[in-house]
Amino acid sequence: MKTSRPIRVRITPEAIQHNYRLAKRHAAGTRAWAVIKANAYGHGQWRAVEALRGDADGFALLECENALALREAGVTQPILLLEGVFSSRDVRAVVEHRLTTVIHCPEQLEMLVRGGRFDAPIGICLKLNTGMNRLGFTAATLPKALETLRQLPQVELTLMTHFAEADGERGVTWQLERFKTLAGDWRGPVCLANSAAILRHPQTHGDWVRPGIMLYGSSPFADQSAVELGLQPAMALESAIIGVQELARGDRVGYGGTFTAERAMRIGVVACGYADGYPRHAPSGTPIAVMGQRTRTVGRVSMDMLACDLTDIPAAGIGAPVTLWGRGLAGDVPADEVATAAGTISYELFCAVAPRVPVEIGAN
Ligand SMILES: *Cc1c(COP(=O)(O)O)cnc(C)c1O
Repeated sequence: MKTSRPIRVRITPEAIQHNYRLAKRHAAGTRAWAVIKANAYGHGQWRAVEALRGDADGFALLECENALALREAGVTQPILLLEGVFSSRDVRAVVEHRLTTVIHCPEQLEMLVRGGRFDAPIGICLKLNTGMNRLGFTAATLPKALETLRQLPQVELTLMTHFAEADGERGVTWQLERFKTLAGDWRGPVCLANSAAILRHPQTHGDWVRPGIMLYGSSPFADQSAVELGLQPAMALESAIIGVQELARGDRVGYGGTFTAERAMRIGVVACGYADGYPRHAPSGTPIAVMGQRTRTVGRVSMDMLACDLTDIPAAGIGAPVTLWGRGLAGDVPADEVATAAGTISYELFCAVAPRVPVEIGAN
């Protein structure tokens, strides 16, 4: 949908491809599930699939319906259901369409055993809880599950876990140790690493890795930027100045008057608000770029607009291009910096871009 309102999100498929290849170079010799859940972190599931169709070893997502849509579109690579099956219908689809599924609890395994006719190989990623305490089998539930799976000769089993702090100080060693204890004498394939572990913890690479955020060009780390990691941003949120105001010292800006001009200044009003997915809690001072120059937001983000400081960008008037985040035509503002200013992570910014924002395909 094209709209005359100037806001748009520009997706660069080549960046997704570049980032996937970078993940593969980091985890040389392993295969990689391209994680395209949540509409490819807001980038568009199909755009990501198209970008990676020739590259991806497999695709990982949540909904069985989406997996089937990929099959229908001719995707022949393995497809992994990251939360496993939700119903016996899902089990039948998994068997029929050769999907790979996580099994994370005895109830799911039971559903699989009851629902499946296993005349063909079926890929199972058995998820172990090694400390995230979200999903996965524990020392109490794992032995019985392995016993059950041993009686299903068509099952191609991978052991899997998920790291809670691969991006942080505590790291992965503690979870790896628990994984090894749980896995015992397991010599088959393992699948452990998210983006942070791919980039920082090579001992986790195993047989399959699961890059998500890095595919979209953001850093999983607070202390290392996407540029430093060689990642290319795949999304730019762009708009334009639609209003200009000259403020006197003491004038305030926006709802609640949370920003007060300390001197005469010139501000621009940008056609982008929280109804477009820009975080309402982004404070004054959040980075933004206008006409190739970085500046800062001022005042509270409203539903359809936000304001920025144009005092040092005198050439910027109505219609001047704005980059809210990403490598935009009006400048480069890493989504990670906007996210940090707003007290969140780029994952959330990307996923929150509203359906009303038109999408364009860009090039690098
Ligand atoms: C979302 C997800 C990933 C990808 O994580 P990133 O931090 O985005 O790389 C990997 N594994 C599982 C199980 C996930 O749910």
